[in-house]
Amino acid sequence: MRPVIHLAFVDDWEVRGNGSGDPRVLQFAPIRKLVSIFNNYGIRGSFNAEVMQQLAYRRMQEQFPELKAIADEWDEVVTQAFQQGHDIQLHLHPQWRDATYEEDGQWRVEGDWSILNYPASEMRAMLACSKLYLERLLRRIRSNYTCVSFRAGSWCAAPSESLLPILSELGFVFDMSIVAGIRYDTPQVKLDYTQCEETFAPYYPEMSDARRVARCRQPMVCVPTNSFFGARFALLRRDLSKARGALQQRLRRLRNGHRGQTPTSSRGYSGDEWTNRGESGAAGLLKRVFRRYINGQMHIADLSRLNYAMMRRMMTNIRNQAEASGLAHVPVILENHTKDIVDASHIERFVAMVTRLADVKTVTLTEIANGLRDGTFQVRTA
Ligand SMILES: [Zn+2]
Repeated sequence: MRPVIHLAFVDDWEVRGNGSGDPRVLQFAPIRKLVSIFNNYGIRGSFNAEVMQQLAYRRMQEQFPELKAIADEWDEVVTQAFQQGHDIQLHLHPQWRDATYEEDGQWRVEGDWSILNYPASEMRAMLACSKLYLERLLRRIRSNYTCVSFRAGSWCAAPSESLLPILSELGFVFDMSIVAGIRYDTPQVKLDYTQCEETFAPYYPEMSDARRVARCRQPMVCVPTNSFFGARFALLRRDLSKARGALQQRLRRLRNGHRGQTPTSSRGYSGDEWTNRGESGAAGLLKRVFRRYINGQMHIADLSRLNYAMMRRMMTNIRNQAEASGLAHVPVILENHTKDIVDASHIERFVAMVTRLADVKTVTLTEIANGLRDGTFQVRTA
């Protein structure tokens, strides 16, 4: 029998990692758009709200009333999505811990990007405060709301002696920070998930290294965020159409004298945060081109980065992996970043396609946690 795929549409909801970008542009408007797409097709999405950013806004709001307006709207948007049946879970970027807001209207976000580089006591404090913030907010709507799942900022979750034990102590059911096949060696992020022992299905991790599968039951479960290899032609087509779009936009702006465009500052900017060492400059560009279009590369199942052709390729891959797993029911976690959505029509088309598939059910993260607890979803050991 064909396995049933329980697909979670998950979104990391935040501004840029360096603190730039307007939450109204990068978060509030696109989440409303996504929620309306999900509602139109009768599915429920899950939003991983990045709470350290919100705590920084709250910390500075007395001094800067404009921040209070934004923080209040953040609460309102989260609450509204939750009231409409969508799930809200925890995402955490520790670099916001000591962030300050300056008179020039810019955030200085200078903390370490990896939660693994903080002492265990600080790790616990950040996780506990963020979880409490969401639970206080959402228990006003549903008294039994609980944070059950976690995704680490910049995927930094392994190896660590502390992270999984603290998550379990705080009552989290599962972590979804592992994305098999990715590797980063950038000024901000260093991680290597190229040798993960389980790339697809839920498993009990070794508590000190989530990349490894434990021999027996553990107090935490890992469910990988889906990733897939290849899609070189679809990627090339996407990149060419992106380049064409950017060129047309530039020409239009030149002709219209910049009227009617969202200023770049409101969308924020990225520096070299995600450029791997040795891959900047002209030689690095060549290396990247070779890897992308000739060798093929691993893609995170991040809908904001994929066009419809790549999403279809991803879905074929998910079905193949589900078939090979031998499981009757398997949860699959997708990724998305509202801040990176340029054209939501691809996501809409994909959502429409998914709702027509007989072997795919859409679920929230809370439903995955329930399925892990009640045995609907089998959890692998080594
Ligand atoms: Zn994030």
